[in-house]
Amino acid sequence: MDLAKKIREIQDFPKEGINFKDITTLLKDPQAFKYMIDQLSQQLEGLNVDIVVGPESRGFLAGAPVAYKIGAGFVPVRKPGKLPAETIRHEYQLEYGTDALEIHRDAIQPGQKVAILDDLLATGGTVLATAKLIEELGGEVVSMNFLIELAFLKGRDLLTNYNIKALVTYD
Ligand code: 5GP
Repeated sequence: MDLAKKIREIQDFPKEGINFKDITTLLKDPQAFKYMIDQLSQQLEGLNVDIVVGPESRGFLAGAPVAYKIGAGFVPVRKPGKLPAETIRHEYQLEYGTDALEIHRDAIQPGQKVAILDDLLATGGTVLATAKLIEELGGEVVSMNFLIELAFLKGRDLLTNYNIKALVTYD
């Protein structure tokens, strides 16, 4: 199945000059959604993943079904102030200013093998911050898996130490 055909492009969202990849058109198509989850799960075969981590919020949509399918646990990474128990935080640079992500301090045990799942890799800032949180807790990031990679933004350059895979690449 050609998943690229199921992704809608919205010009100038959320601001002028951005060609937003809208995955809601893929998610509502039962065959495409199933194919996406099956393919992402297949990429994790043989890695003995204990935990799938998904960054807020579209990382939940890809991460939770994949965790279920491969028999792993699911851990959310969220924007500050959303998680109820004790958290650790990692701040990262945006084009203008900084942003931060949090994870529960007890979410990952030292030595656990972790895969990060998200809908889209752009500059790599989100997934790198997520990896830092996991590593601070002693987890090992064995894979980063995406539905979409915007290769022209060169996110991989920031992520040279990691194993990265995407189902659909825009050059
Ligand atoms: P990065 O941190 O790699 O620059 O941006 C990736 C994050 O921004 C992902 O969590 C992703 O959900 C979101 N994102 C950025 N651009 C798009 C887009 O065009 N479409 C979608 N669906 N998400 C995007």
